[in-house]
Parts: sequence; structure tokens; C-alpha cells
Amino acid sequence: MNARDEEPSSGAGALISARGLRKSYGRTEALRGASLDLHEGEILAVTGTSGSGKSTLLHCLSGITRPDDGVVAYGKEKLSLLPEQRLSELRRSDFGVVFQFGQLIPELTALDNVALPLLLAGIRRDRANQRAGEWLECFGVRGQADIRPGGMSGGQAQRVALARALVTEPKAVFADEPTGALDSLAGEQVMTALVHTARESATAVLLITHDAQVAAYADREVWLRDGVVHSAPADVSDREAARREG
Ligand code: ADP
Ligand code: MG
Repeated sequence: MNARDEEPSSGAGALISARGLRKSYGRTEALRGASLDLHEGEILAVTGTSGSGKSTLLHCLSGITRPDDGVVAYGKEKLSLLPEQRLSELRRSDFGVVFQFGQLIPELTALDNVALPLLLAGIRRDRANQRAGEWLECFGVRGQADIRPGGMSGGQAQRVALARALVTEPKAVFADEPTGALDSLAGEQVMTALVHTARESATAVLLITHDAQVAAYADREVWLRDGVVHSAPADVSDREAARREG
């Protein structure tokens, strides 16, 4: 492993700072000492081949999974030390999560899907609906307000899912291959809407992708290989290593 291309050890100024994360599933070591900083308002792409530990990293950073070892700091709080109740509060209010597909509630209309996190936060129905409508508008899917997920295209459903992730105005949005199930035009529309909205609201975005075109929307890109985060892609560091050895 090339120590020079690892993330710096200081988490100063980071919104979320992860150090030395390890997570195994049986004999599979999904994360083997992954470290990463997500700064306020930045759009950070995490790229890596399938099975490199990207989703596991996202789950650890967003408090969905507890790592076996290592620390995830969010401000003064260490996620691994928090009780389940505080973690779910953070997931509800401070973090938004978007997956590849299928996370909308099929029985609810687009408007009700987006209003739900606000209702859970205790906001009154009329105000929640109004704000949900505004966020659907932001993502260009206000016309789908009364439609259930089954009646939408994949791209529309993803834009509704993004509206739902952002409606509570979280500090960070975690998106796990949000365009992975879309054709390139729909994917582009989803990414454009996400990047535009995140910048307007200074929301940090951790964007997981294995698509270089999607990563190009980010401010910064890191690479996950064998459960470790690198700040250079494999070919560059390999070339570097060869040059130094040669
Ligand atoms: P990626 O998102 O980059 O494809 P993952 O984080 O999903 O990678 O998975 C990393 C490794 O951990 C893979 O080998 C995968 O099979 C394994 N893994 C992930 N989640 C589980 C799980 N819940 N049970 C068993 N193995 C898992
Ligand atoms: Mg994954």
C-alpha cells in the first residue's frame, strides 16, 4: 500500500471525519482501515470497483452500520458511542440518504413521500405539504406530486427520492450510486438537480459511484480499493510506484 496517497490524519474543519474504519462480514473484510473527511458543503465522490467497500463505508459514515473498529466523528459526537436513539435522530434530521432505487414508499404519492420526514419531525401537515411541493418543484417533478412511485419513470422516482432526502435540510446527503439504475440522460438530470440543490443549500454530499462521468460533478474524488481510501486512482499510484522503483 502506498502511504502517500492516503487521506491526511487531521480531521480539522471536517463535517464528518472517519479514521481507521474496519468492518468485516464473516471472513470478508469490507473495510480495512478506511479514513475520510467530508467537509461542510463539499461534493465528494467515492469511486471504486464493485465489492471495494463503498456501500459499507457509506453505511458507517451515516450511522446505519457500526464499524468493528475506528471512529466516525460528527462534530463533537462519535457515532460509534451514540445510543441508537440519538443515531436515528441524526439520520432523521442531519443526514439524508439516497440509494440506487426502490426506497420510496410505494403506497404513498410523491408529495406524501417527501412530506413524511417533515411529519416525523413534528411539522404540521399543511406546512409539510407546502414544503414538500417546493422541493418537488426544485427537482422538476412537481407534476408528479399526486403520482405513486409505480407510475413514475426511474429518473422521476430518483428525483423524488432526492427531494425527500433534502427536504429536512440536512447537513449531509449520502447518495449510493443514485444514478446507477438510470439511462444516461435521466442520470444527468438527476445529477444536475442534486449538485445544483446541494450548492444552493450548502449541503455536503458524499456521492458513491463507479461512473467517471458522475464523479466529474464532484468537487473532489477519492478511490476505495480493498477497503482503504486513496486520494489517487489505481493507475496513477501504480505508475508513480513504478517510476520511483525504476
Ligand atoms: P461496494 O458497495 O463497493 O460494491 P460493499 O460495501 O457493498 O461494496 O461490499 C464490500 C464487501 O463486503 C463485498 O465483498 C461484499 O460482498 C461484502 N458485504 C457487504 N455487505 C455484506 C453483508 N451484509 N453480508 C455479507 N457480506 C457483505
Ligand atoms: Mg455498493
